[in-house]
Amino acid sequence: MTEVFEGSFTQQEPIPEAGIEAALAVLRHGRLHRYNTVADEISETAQLEQEFAACVGAKYCLAVASGGYAMGTALRALGVKPGDKVLSNAFTLAPVPGAIASVGAEPVFVGVTEDLTIDLEDLQAKIGQARMLLLSHMRGHICDMDRLMSICDAAGVQVIEDCAHTMGAAWNGVPSGRHGVVGCYSCQTYKHVNSGEGGFLVTDDVALAARAVMLSGSYMLYERHLAAPPPEAFATIRYETPNISGRMDNLRAAILRPQIADLETQCARWNERYLRLEAGLRDTPGLTVIERPPQETMVGSSIQFLLLDWPGDAVQEVVRRCGALGVELKWFGAAEPVAFTSRYDSWRYADTPPMPKSDRVLAGVVDMRVPLTFSLEDCDLIARIIRAEVSAAFQRAA
Ligand SMILES: *Cc1c(COP(=O)(O)O)cnc(C)c1O
Repeated sequence: MTEVFEGSFTQQEPIPEAGIEAALAVLRHGRLHRYNTVADEISETAQLEQEFAACVGAKYCLAVASGGYAMGTALRALGVKPGDKVLSNAFTLAPVPGAIASVGAEPVFVGVTEDLTIDLEDLQAKIGQARMLLLSHMRGHICDMDRLMSICDAAGVQVIEDCAHTMGAAWNGVPSGRHGVVGCYSCQTYKHVNSGEGGFLVTDDVALAARAVMLSGSYMLYERHLAAPPPEAFATIRYETPNISGRMDNLRAAILRPQIADLETQCARWNERYLRLEAGLRDTPGLTVIERPPQETMVGSSIQFLLLDWPGDAVQEVVRRCGALGVELKWFGAAEPVAFTSRYDSWRYADTPPMPKSDRVLAGVVDMRVPLTFSLEDCDLIARIIRAEVSAAFQRAA
């Protein structure tokens, strides 16, 4: 009998009750704007920033409107100017090159390896082309950060980490987002915490933090922050920095605070599901599991595998057949961008030479979300469905 999965790949868990209660309190008092406080009140947003800074061990944290906004703000605060080149991953999602384009800069794409991490050989080859790297830990895969940082440090290249898929993850015990000069996170519904939209930027750099706070639209109210530099840091920055509003609001902050408190537990639940899926997929003929390095503390909120060197129509057929059985897979090899999935060569505003080694990997990458609404038995069932379809397709081809 053919098995069918009936769950939803886009259904996240409800907001925790504590978040709902806190959100209702904000709605009842009506002070949603982060700087709208009474007497000695400390806003939900300021508290959230302090809590997230502590969570990742950063000196400064700024909560903003989205992950994309956090990356754009980081680039601006670091002084990226129109026409500058910024290194970034060829394998990432559209908001990453979009953040670079938002400041008028040009992405220089660095290739992807079969481990789905940035190709450090290619990075080394291109390092002289830019002063900055916007490093995307795409789909939660973390490269050898020690090697990456030594390549970048040696070349004087500053690293901005895009941690949209690595909130709660670490490399060699150092939280993702704490290796480079600044870390950016997303609180969008499909990431590790959910306020619909939202983001964070964390750093230990005083001037960068002060500029980011001004950029986000603090007016002259920066003293109301709990995780921003002291007022002296704003002495000249407050005159020099434009206001490009992109603040977090108290309603979203209220929803997020209990989720940040629960993050570790949630990450462990993701990993239980990931490991069940991985176990179910391992040793499927024709399918390559992505091996995770021991230095990585991962968060398995999505899973990828490779159908390496398969003809495109065979991969497409596996995706189609799995879809018909309720298993929603995404493929990075499709000729045209689909839904959330696009590729470096479809971002035509960037002028990019072909990258054959990366194309080979991208043509084989199949991706699947792992929402926490899946039970462990759901994961077993999903893995059986994928395994059966991939094995059958592999045999047909042989
Ligand atoms: C979602 C995402 C972002 C940006 O997040 P938004 O909050 O949606 O702007 C950045 N990078 C990657 C890889 C993402 O998936």
